Amino acid sequence: MAALGRVLAEPIVSRSLIPPWANSSMDGYAVRARDTRGDPVELAVVGRIIAGTLPSRPLRAGEAMRIFTGAPLPEGADAVVPQEDVAADGERVTITGRVAAGAFVRPAGEDVHVGDVVVQPSGVIGAAEVGLLATLGYAQVRVFRRPRVAILSTGNELADLGTEPGPGQIPNTNTYSLMAQVIEAGAEPINLGVVPDHLEAITERLRWGLAAADVLVTSAGVSVGELDLVREALERSGAELHLWKVSMRPGKPITFGTHAGRPVFGLPGNPVSAMVTFELFVRPALRRMAGADSVDRPRLRVPALEMIANPGSRRGYLRVTLTPDTGGYGARLTGDQGSAILRSMVLADGLAVVAPDTTIAAGEPVDVILLRSLEPRSR
Ligand code: AMP
Ligand code: MG
Repeated sequence: MAALGRVLAEPIVSRSLIPPWANSSMDGYAVRARDTRGDPVELAVVGRIIAGTLPSRPLRAGEAMRIFTGAPLPEGADAVVPQEDVAADGERVTITGRVAAGAFVRPAGEDVHVGDVVVQPSGVIGAAEVGLLATLGYAQVRVFRRPRVAILSTGNELADLGTEPGPGQIPNTNTYSLMAQVIEAGAEPINLGVVPDHLEAITERLRWGLAAADVLVTSAGVSVGELDLVREALERSGAELHLWKVSMRPGKPITFGTHAGRPVFGLPGNPVSAMVTFELFVRPALRRMAGADSVDRPRLRVPALEMIANPGSRRGYLRVTLTPDTGGYGARLTGDQGSAILRSMVLADGLAVVAPDTTIAAGEPVDVILLRSLEPRSR
């Protein structure tokens, strides 16, 4: 069960036939199709095969055997007549109509042949894969290691979970939403806690994180303010910064760098900005590092159910709810799109991607990055 949700690191090759022998898909009578001629025929019932047993002998001309679902077909038989289609008295069975060869028979190897690659590496192991692995006798499989992701929240104003916010303080949100996103991406979070906006304190905590993790993610302190010290702290801790500021809303101040080949992401502090930049920049990197072949979320093109406007010069990632519309889904804004309004993420099924200075009228198509399954839920 530990394999569920993990990324497979080896091809799963079948060592057996599934099913191992031809068997019945119905309760009925095993027959030779050529013994049934169309007009009623009477066959002698010469045996009884229940699932979990083997037929006592082959079937000969003019004979039938009582058979149950999943039981192996006797040699010589090539079809099953369901019990509801016959008249039988225990000794003899009367069959009306011609029975086709192969009827209600599941042939040997119908599902899997020896040597078939039944699950490809780099796929995520779900419930069906777990079932198939068990069928093939795999009690253990090789999976990729989950990348370890250290998360550091910075800010003088943050009171961490379990402590009462002091005057002017706010609860630390981002550590927890980001840890959850890391887990959902198939990686392992390491919580580096909270540090104040103090260059030495941030630098020291970053060094811990870089020693312990494959990826480093920080929150806040990457804008242009006097107390935005994370970029400098990253450089002091030995990271090389490659990118700062992306023309997007929310999330503009995002920073990206590397430290000894390991990715380092400085995410903005507003809770929505942190989550959206994680989605767009960190998650694909984690999926790739986790060995998964699917890196991107699905993108759907759906009609806007109301006007969706993105004024300004940056590309917009607007939170939308997808609701069933005639013949499919349609997108509606979650409400106020402020980057501090985490409730807009709670309500969101996806992010509508809208070009700068663009207004999408109701009824026009919009591209939506799907963030979650569309299972109905109460919000
Ligand atoms: P900054 O990027 O440091 O300017 O932060 C932007 C906004 O996000 C400010 O209003 C911060 O108070 C807020 N913020 C920063 N870090 C967090 C956090 N961990 N949880 C919740 N809000 C935060
Ligand atoms: Mg700050």
